[in-house]
This record gives sequence, C-alpha cells and structure tokens, in this order.
Amino acid sequence: MAQHSQTLSIEEFHWHIGLLQNLDVGLIVLDRDYCVQLWNTFMANHSGRTDSEVRERNLFELFPDLPADWFRRKLDTVFLLRNRAFITWQERPCLFRFKPDRPITGKAAHMYQNVTLIPLTSPSGSVSHVGVLIYNVTDAAMNHLDLEAANTELSRLSRTDRLTGLFNRGYWEECLQHEHDRFLRSQQPSSLIMLDIDHFKNINDTHGHPAGDEAIRALARLIQQHIRSTDTAGRYGGEEFGILLPDTTAERAEVLAERLRQAAEDTLVTHEQERIRFTISLGIAQSAPDDEDHCQWLGRADQALYRSKQNGRNQTTIDD
Ligand code: GH3
Ligand code: MG
Ligand code: MG
Repeated sequence: MAQHSQTLSIEEFHWHIGLLQNLDVGLIVLDRDYCVQLWNTFMANHSGRTDSEVRERNLFELFPDLPADWFRRKLDTVFLLRNRAFITWQERPCLFRFKPDRPITGKAAHMYQNVTLIPLTSPSGSVSHVGVLIYNVTDAAMNHLDLEAANTELSRLSRTDRLTGLFNRGYWEECLQHEHDRFLRSQQPSSLIMLDIDHFKNINDTHGHPAGDEAIRALARLIQQHIRSTDTAGRYGGEEFGILLPDTTAERAEVLAERLRQAAEDTLVTHEQERIRFTISLGIAQSAPDDEDHCQWLGRADQALYRSKQNGRNQTTIDD
C-alpha cells in the first residue's frame, strides 16, 4: 500500500512539473544565494536561455540588466518575513525586459509584467527558496495606458477652444476663480486683461466669416507669443479674450497690453485673397479685496474695456 502511494506521488510530482513547465506564466525558483533551481518553459522561451544554461547559476550574474539592489531587497524581505510580495507593472513596468508578444501590431516596447514572490517552506518549516511568478500583463497594461491617454486627451479637449487652441471660456473662468481665491489668501496682486477686436462685424461683412475666423486665430497667436508661461489666456467669446497675469500689478499688465495692442495693429492677416488689418481694445483690472467674487473682478475689467471702446477704440484702459 505504501509502495502504491509512493508511486502515485512520484507520478503526481511529474504531473505537477509538467503543468508548471507548460504554464503560460514565468516560474523561477531561487535559493538563498539567488541561484536558479527551477526555470520553466515560459522563461526559457522569452529569455532565450534554456533551463540547463541557467540552472544553479546566480540570477544577477545571468541577467546583469536586472534591477539587482531593488530586487534583492524584495527577495530578502520574503525570506525574512515569510510573506508573499507583489510587484505590479504600475510600480515597475517589467522585471525581465522581454520582447512583447505582438511586436508588429502591438505598441508595447516590451512585455509588461506583474510579479509575485512566494516563500517556499521546507518540511522543517524554514524558508529555503523563493518562487517567482511572472505574469504577462501587456494587453491589460496597454489597454490601461490607452485609456489613460484618451482621458488626458479628452480633458485637454474639454478645456480647449477649437478655433484658437487657447483655453475655452468655461475652463478659463475656472482659472479666474482660482486666481481670485488665491488672491484672497495671499493678497498678492494679480491682473486681468480683457480684450476685444474693434469693429469685428465690419471684418466679417467685408472679408467674409472664414477671413474673420483667421483674424481671431491670428490674434490668439499674438496673445500666445506675448504672454509668459505662468499667464493664462482664454477665448471668452466670439472675438473677445481674457488674460490672467498672476503676481502682476495693473501697471505691469499695461506694458503687456500695449505691446499686444501695437502688435495687433502691425499685423497683416491674409486669408485666400483677403488682406485684413484689425485693432483691439483692452481693459485691465487688478485684483482687489472689495471684489466679492471673480465675477466682480471680471466686471471691472469689462468696464475698463468698454471705456476703451467709448474713447475711440485701439487703446488700453486701467480700471480705477
Ligand atoms: P466693437 O468694436 O464694439 O467690438 O464692434 P464689433 O463689431 O466687434 O462688435 P461685437 O463685438 O458686438 O461683434 C462681434 C461679432 O463677431 C458678432 C459676430 O457675428 C462675430 N463673431 C462671433 N464669433 C465669431 C466667430 O467665431 N467667427 C467669426 N468670423 N465671427 C464671429
Ligand atoms: Mg468687437
Ligand atoms: Mg465682442
């Protein structure tokens, strides 16, 4: 009977080894000196190193590209604490830099891997070996990364004005609100410039709507060329724009406003055969403690812009 059960257990052992060898998961068994004791077919196929080449050899000498210090620490923790450890592809995209499964159609530069480390206890209860399971999660990782990229693009698009590439009104107003809140906390003055193309209806009427669009795009480009990276420009309406200048007094904002006004005056926009010139009017308001909300701040800049229009256009007015 004992003989029979032993035969069975050897048979079972062979089944187990056969299953492990052919599992579509990488399996390595390492001893305490990080020498390879088991190396399944998955590992052989993807690494190009056969079982007999790697057996009894130190893993870090075999694969000098492995993140040795980091991975050794992980292994040592498993030996010491006798607990499993998990490494996800988000933490480290791959342990072994294997080629992806679908190098032609796929976009992955390498196989993405999740790794599980399992303490293997001997019959005496001590942990003499660690099993390393390597899961190929390239498809899931790529789907996740694609989704993340799509979400980033979607959120960029939802903030962007299609015609000009500047921020759209909704997002720009959010920025204005944040800047107003920041001013209330810090009391550091910021400035707001509102600007609008003069007699834009005439441009549309004379040169056509598409030429008008080109003038709007040209003004957006001028704004982008003139502002600093910390400034925030948005298209507020048809041919009206807002620029938010953090840590800037109205007097300093006026310097930018006047440069922009001059640049607009000097710009010749061409669209098909049309040659278009335009001027802009601007209004400036510095943040003030009396503004109950960002709308009041915006209202003051708008009032200043309105005065520029009333006083003959092509000029800048500071709210007082
Ligand atoms: P003012 O000097 O007082 O600003 O005169 P204006 O003619 O520019 O007056 P207003 O700002 O009221 O007119 C804006 C015009 O812009 C009205 C609208 O037909 C046109 N418009 C609005 N959005 C667009 C757009 O996206 N493209 C084009 N081509 N025209 C637009
Ligand atoms: Mg106008
Ligand atoms: Mg307007």
